[in-house]
Amino acid sequence: MSIDHLVGVDLGGSHYTAALFRPDGTLLDCRSVAETIRGDAEGVLARLSALILQILAWHNVSPQNAVIGLGMPGPQDRRRGVITKAHNIGWYDVPVTAPLEERIGSRCFLENDAVAATCGEWWQGAGQGTRHLVGLTLGTGLGGGMLVHGRAYYGAEDIAGHFGHLVIDLNGRLCPCGVQGCLEAYVSTGGMLKTAAEIGLHLPEESGVKPLSELAAVGDPQAGEVFRRTADYLAAGIASIAHSVNPDKVVVGGSIALAGELLFGPLRERLAERVFPAARGSLVVEPFALGDRSAVYGAAIQAWHRSREE
Ligand SMILES: [Zn+2]
Repeated sequence: MSIDHLVGVDLGGSHYTAALFRPDGTLLDCRSVAETIRGDAEGVLARLSALILQILAWHNVSPQNAVIGLGMPGPQDRRRGVITKAHNIGWYDVPVTAPLEERIGSRCFLENDAVAATCGEWWQGAGQGTRHLVGLTLGTGLGGGMLVHGRAYYGAEDIAGHFGHLVIDLNGRLCPCGVQGCLEAYVSTGGMLKTAAEIGLHLPEESGVKPLSELAAVGDPQAGEVFRRTADYLAAGIASIAHSVNPDKVVVGGSIALAGELLFGPLRERLAERVFPAARGSLVVEPFALGDRSAVYGAAIQAWHRSREE
């Protein structure tokens, strides 16, 4: 049996995506399905299996010759292939690799979605050629991942890279994790809307940060101030990462990063003030190059590496 194709999956709150690759990184197919993921683990896994089997069949790939990487929200038990407490999709103690392996007939590997996104950027995106890479995904939460010497680094208990819970203010806002002052309580959709409300700009929560970006883009001073404050908070977090991990590059993706220079402009200015001069040369902050496909790329390449380590 020889593995000659890779499948990457990205499961988000309102959709799943499956993509087929050659081991050299060539993308052969990519399909997204929008549906409600929350709660219905069994149904979603059945439909996801059917989609993957279809993609393999369309490309005449036998399931035994493919390996599948599953980029899914955590917390999770990566080695056992179980999603343990994914609050945002309401999946608790859901085994994912075992039922998918049974239905599809390919070896499957579970991966944290933010780690997968970082690995994807390292493989085919903005992190290509780096030795030490940190990735941040800014959306409803703040996810993180890192590669050290070109390998995903997980730490002793798979907790490494949870940069959303770097504390930037001891007496700050309460984070969903129960601790005060975590970076995620400021640099996330909800965090930015809170910052906006603090300066008198009240926006509906359900539309995310898009209205804020649109206002800032046409020069609204309050919306611009929200991006400057967010960049300041994020710079405090990235400075801590620079001084503890010292990566070659930090790549930043997710819905908030789509605001582009509204965020990256003030972020680079603040970083220049906060980071040791010795680390500045190696500290480059760039947006994801693969957009919302980073995680399917990364889940696929991680599955390939993990299958070869077995
Ligand atoms: Zn926290």
